[in-house]
Amino acid sequence: MCQTDVVQDEGGIYAVSNPNAAHAHSVSDRSSKDTHVAVVDIAGFVADLKDHAADHGFHVHDERHFVETYSMHQAFEIDLHPEAHCGGPLDLRLSLDIEVRTLLAFEDEVMSIPEDVEPSEDLTIELVFSWALPPLGSGPDLLVLATELAGVGGPDLPTQVSAVDSFEAVTDAPLRSLGVIARLETPLAALLRGGEADWLCDALERARSVSEYLVDRAPAWLGENL
Ligand SMILES: [Zn+2]
Ligand SMILES: [Zn+2]
Repeated sequence: MCQTDVVQDEGGIYAVSNPNAAHAHSVSDRSSKDTHVAVVDIAGFVADLKDHAADHGFHVHDERHFVETYSMHQAFEIDLHPEAHCGGPLDLRLSLDIEVRTLLAFEDEVMSIPEDVEPSEDLTIELVFSWALPPLGSGPDLLVLATELAGVGGPDLPTQVSAVDSFEAVTDAPLRSLGVIARLETPLAALLRGGEADWLCDALERARSVSEYLVDRAPAWLGENL
């Protein structure tokens, strides 16, 4: 479960092995046009987020940073495991997608308000938690799972459950690939305040509960495929 994904070069997306270097690059590109420095340090936020996830019992395995060549659209991905289940079947990916337009609009807003005034929480980015298990021989009832996870994630981390059934041969029993996703609308203003905030504590605690719920039941769901 600890493999590194191969990054496809599709639509001008490329992987960057050193996120900090890439970040510095995108900043310097713009500061060559005007001299202002990026207001939100996204790479710094992601670095804080990794440390913070470790504080909440996660083990960080891998991270990727993508920058689209033309649009400068950026994405960060962090692969995590619950610390106690390293090498187990459960994968959790945390991802952050950043539209340059949103970032620039937020920078404009911050520049236009007095220094002692907090920016609004109108401009947001999505922090996405996605859990995955290997294809399950005796997968769970989705409605039951969705209901129980709604309780586990609570209002801090509302989850969505989906599944795809596949058949190796028509006579075979289906294998169920389960996907659990939680999307956190995150105000850029919250990122400006840093990656150690209370709302992140709540979300990471909930994420750990969801992880434990899934990992506890995985052996039964995996059945003979274990
Ligand atoms: Zn691990
Ligand atoms: Zn915390």
